[in-house]
Amino acid sequence: MGIEIASRFFVGLDGSVVGSRGASESVAGRGVFVTDRVRAGSPILSFGGVLLSRDEYCSFADLDHCIQVGPDQFLGPSGELDDYTNHSCDPSTRVIVERADATAVLIAVRDLISADEVTFDYSTVQLNDSRFWIDPCRCGAAGCRTVIGDFTSLSWSEKWDLQRRGLLAWYTEEAFHRERQARYGR
Ligand SMILES: [Zn+2]
Repeated sequence: MGIEIASRFFVGLDGSVVGSRGASESVAGRGVFVTDRVRAGSPILSFGGVLLSRDEYCSFADLDHCIQVGPDQFLGPSGELDDYTNHSCDPSTRVIVERADATAVLIAVRDLISADEVTFDYSTVQLNDSRFWIDPCRCGAAGCRTVIGDFTSLSWSEKWDLQRRGLLAWYTEEAFHRERQARYGR
């Protein structure tokens, strides 16, 4: 068991890559880091990649660099920084997915300083996706869930916590409200 040597990618506020600072030690592999102060609520970067249907996604080999952006819509790898944003159980950003066109943007959920890592909680966007697992999670957060699956894999209290913190994408939010309706009738 050793520490992986991995590249770190640094991204400016306009989304441009402002330099890769070579090899750094990281247990999470490649990651994306900000170069400037970023205020909570600011957009950091957008996801690219080809829009895939669920059928197309299910036949796709490279799941590592895909992200779900609708109940049955996914984005494939873009070859850009968004492919390398890591999961965290205590994320620095949330994903805002536009319902109309399935675009996705990472928004800071707290004030960030230079060299803070850009992370989001993958369970807030992946839904009805039994192919998606991270085992074990190496995010290092105090409340790390250890094994990371899609939104349906979470306990009710974990779902409740993510919803309360405003981290859910619109379709995981809807799944949360459907389950609450079924559990409590409201
Ligand atoms: Zn974790």
